Amino acid sequence: MNHLQEVHEGVYLVGSPNLTAPEDCCVYLLDLGDLVMIDAGAGKSVFALLENVASLGLGHRPIAAIVATHCHVDHVGGIPLLRERTGCQVIAHERDAMAMEIGDSQKTAAAWYNVIYPPTPVDYKLSEVREVLKFEKGEILCLHTPGHTPGSISIILDHNGKRVLFGQDIHGPFADAFGSDLAAWRKSMEVLLGLKADILCEGHFGVYRPEEEVERYIRNYLHMYGKDKK
Ligand SMILES: [Zn+2]
Ligand SMILES: [Zn+2]
Repeated sequence: MNHLQEVHEGVYLVGSPNLTAPEDCCVYLLDLGDLVMIDAGAGKSVFALLENVASLGLGHRPIAAIVATHCHVDHVGGIPLLRERTGCQVIAHERDAMAMEIGDSQKTAAAWYNVIYPPTPVDYKLSEVREVLKFEKGEILCLHTPGHTPGSISIILDHNGKRVLFGQDIHGPFADAFGSDLAAWRKSMEVLLGLKADILCEGHFGVYRPEEEVERYIRNYLHMYGKDKK
């Protein structure tokens, strides 16, 4: 993943450890008429992210929204500056939003990364198990999939006959400091398996396809963190 990638029509990989900064998660951009970013990297690569978005040639549209899959700093660190620069709306699940809004160094894992996450407003808080977000020319479905953190979400985009799943930290890790819950995580993984996604956009390891590979990826972690494991 050393180059910008169109993962699927209108879905782009614009940030990753190789593309932007070693500590960044994978950052995806969706062209839904409005430009919607999923996660925002760890914070030092905001200008590289903006350059990557500009180089896609999508016109002079600002980023309309950033959807945070959860509150960890490698995923949300770029949000404060991106929000300031673009005026985008920040969207996160209510159970992770507080950690972002108060800049909780443990729950955001900022302490792990030895950085500071400043208190950052979340403009819209997801509160349902399933919630559709509508944009100019398309919509995404946000599913509450707790486990890695209490407010972890997974995002579904159905487009051109394919189902794209943004699963982010399916692989954990799990820690009391994050409020992780393995039993909840197992249930969430069963929900993800039931979606039969064609493409998985993962938070650190890139893109998996077709459906059998997506299933294999998720089942591998379910096996790794099976009921007898802690
Ligand atoms: Zn995480
Ligand atoms: Zn992560």
